[in-house]
Amino acid sequence: MPELPEVQTIVNDLDRKIKGLTIADVWTDWPKYFKRSIGGWETFRKTVKGKKIKKIRRIGKNIIFDLLNDKKMLIHQKMTGHLLIGHWQVKNNKPIPIEKGPLAEKVNNYIHAIFWLSKNKMMGFSDLRKFGKILVADEKDFKNLEDVKNIGPDPLTPKFGFSEFKSLISKKRGPIKKILMDQNVVSGIGNIYSDEILFVAKIHPLKKTEELGDKELKAIFEAAKKILKKAVKLRGTSTSDYRDTAGKVGYYDKVRLVYRREGEKCPRNCGAAIQRLKINGRSAHFCPYCQKL
Ligand SMILES: [Zn+2]
Repeated sequence: MPELPEVQTIVNDLDRKIKGLTIADVWTDWPKYFKRSIGGWETFRKTVKGKKIKKIRRIGKNIIFDLLNDKKMLIHQKMTGHLLIGHWQVKNNKPIPIEKGPLAEKVNNYIHAIFWLSKNKMMGFSDLRKFGKILVADEKDFKNLEDVKNIGPDPLTPKFGFSEFKSLISKKRGPIKKILMDQNVVSGIGNIYSDEILFVAKIHPLKKTEELGDKELKAIFEAAKKILKKAVKLRGTSTSDYRDTAGKVGYYDKVRLVYRREGEKCPRNCGAAIQRLKINGRSAHFCPYCQKL
């Protein structure tokens, strides 16, 4: 699933490529994407048609399109979704990419929704698993959406400081990896970056939040900012389906420390090999020597 760095990369790209354009029309062969939009797919289409995109931004892992007349469009890419800017021709209800190159690659060819925009631009939503979510809402309804209402602060906002982080984490009990991934505590961190952050901070993923002292919490807080910033700079991780708006891969996985490196040598050269364990059905990768319980 795309996490903060992947979603931020998409948001930066979209803001540069399609801000100020108007949505001319929308196509889908999977109306279920829009089931959380009031009135479903047909109402969604009518509402966004003719609306200008004022700004594109991120709340946690959600991509928010601020439209004219205070309408907000939300896209959550879920497991395998990614937004692409290119050109497609819809023939027999099947989109065919017009450009050669990355957009023609298989990973980018599960297009199940298309937005036609002004200036002859198009935005496609490629999504192999079809778990994505797309909705539009008025300002007042938007604020009350579950997706944004209880979401925790963004670790990359400069005003998000250590004391806030400490108080949020301390309110929750359980393994630190699970709490870091809880979107209502801190937003944007998922499976990949929680592993990386805990490795840098030298904290075992199963360590309970109530057992963490100030020094350890500070190490996690600083590692989170550092790793997330680095991953945004490298345009995210593409070990799975994630691609940017041009259909290209990110580069963080080339420098990743422990995520999906089970059995490989610890990057600190401590002599131990990276291990994997399961926490709530998710994999955690860690060094048993550098991250002691
Ligand atoms: Zn180690």
